[in-house]
Amino acid sequence: MPLSIENQNKLDAFWAHCVKNQYFNIGYPESADFDYGSLERFMRFSLNNCGDWGEYCNYLLNSFEFEKDVIKHFAQLYRIPFSQCWGYVTNGGTEGNMFGCYLARELFPDGTLFYSRDTHYSVAKIVRLLRIKSQVVDALPNGEIDYQDLMRKIEASGDRHPILFANLGTTVKGAVDDIGRMQRLMSQAGFAREDYYIHGDAALSGMILPFVDQPQPHNFADGIDSISVSGHKMIGSPIPCGIALARKKLVDQISVEIDYIAAHDKTITGSRNGHTPLLLWYAIHAADFEEQKKRIGHCLAMAQYAVDRFQACGIDAWRNKNSITVVFPCPSEDVWKKHCLATSGQYAHLITTAHHLDSSRIDALIDDVVADLAEEAA
Ligand SMILES: *Cc1c(COP(=O)(O)O)cnc(C)c1O
Repeated sequence: MPLSIENQNKLDAFWAHCVKNQYFNIGYPESADFDYGSLERFMRFSLNNCGDWGEYCNYLLNSFEFEKDVIKHFAQLYRIPFSQCWGYVTNGGTEGNMFGCYLARELFPDGTLFYSRDTHYSVAKIVRLLRIKSQVVDALPNGEIDYQDLMRKIEASGDRHPILFANLGTTVKGAVDDIGRMQRLMSQAGFAREDYYIHGDAALSGMILPFVDQPQPHNFADGIDSISVSGHKMIGSPIPCGIALARKKLVDQISVEIDYIAAHDKTITGSRNGHTPLLLWYAIHAADFEEQKKRIGHCLAMAQYAVDRFQACGIDAWRNKNSITVVFPCPSEDVWKKHCLATSGQYAHLITTAHHLDSSRIDALIDDVVADLAEEAA
């Protein structure tokens, strides 16, 4: 049955809205410079990746082969032999965080999860869902975890199997917790490495750090046990998605056999999106390492450009090392609403995602913020 004229108009109006606002985004980390046109023909299929891409599945319309390729790619990117890891394409960073926390809790059922005040809101939700004991740790002014407060709280808790939730790029300030330093402090406090767990939340920066010349520690070789990355942020995707990756031996302990699909299940949901592995597969094969590096280099240069322009106008803007998130004092409500900025307390930020090819959007925002803060100060 064709749509009524009214409904057709409604759809057309929404299309126009999307076209007009396609590149609106400067306050959130979603890149909009993607083109998945060659995958549009797959929209007619009910793809479903329930279960594990590594096993036979009775449901034939799956994209397991592509998902396996994606996981192989990310295993290499995050420096773990493919044979020693397992991971899957998630619905986004939150699900990957939940997967990591779930593995940690199964390994250390009585462990307390320590996370900083600047951690993404998904984690407070996850510790409640999974009923993990947790403690919030202070954050340093730049957004990194307060290492001394972390160690104080771990020691005061008496916990022998702490779960460390590390931000590899915080949401508001783009700060990367120093997992090298965390491991040194843990060792000084008498913990062997196998006595505690480190999950890395790399929602945005997970797709930045492997491509810069001097990255902060962030991968499996640097000591993480699991990692979560968003696919719809730095990479860019029309459907939210992400990648969860963990040491294989940790995943084996949560695997259950499901007769209904004749396979093992290790994932959080049942049915899983079969289109998003295709999207990620396409993205990683459409641009090689050098092209990605160039694209990310452009974003980082734009971020520095914004910092310099703000500072030239006397505004205290800054960014963390290897971050495309530029932090500045929160302007008045009409300015942050006009530019759809995310604000947090006294701060706002802009994120120089890859669709900002030139500085026009950034300049327009900076002009408004500068005028607004000058007015406020007057
Ligand atoms: C965005 C973000 C998340 C959540 O990711 P989703 O893909 O939105 O679920 C988690 N952690 C950090 C640091 C984030 O910035």
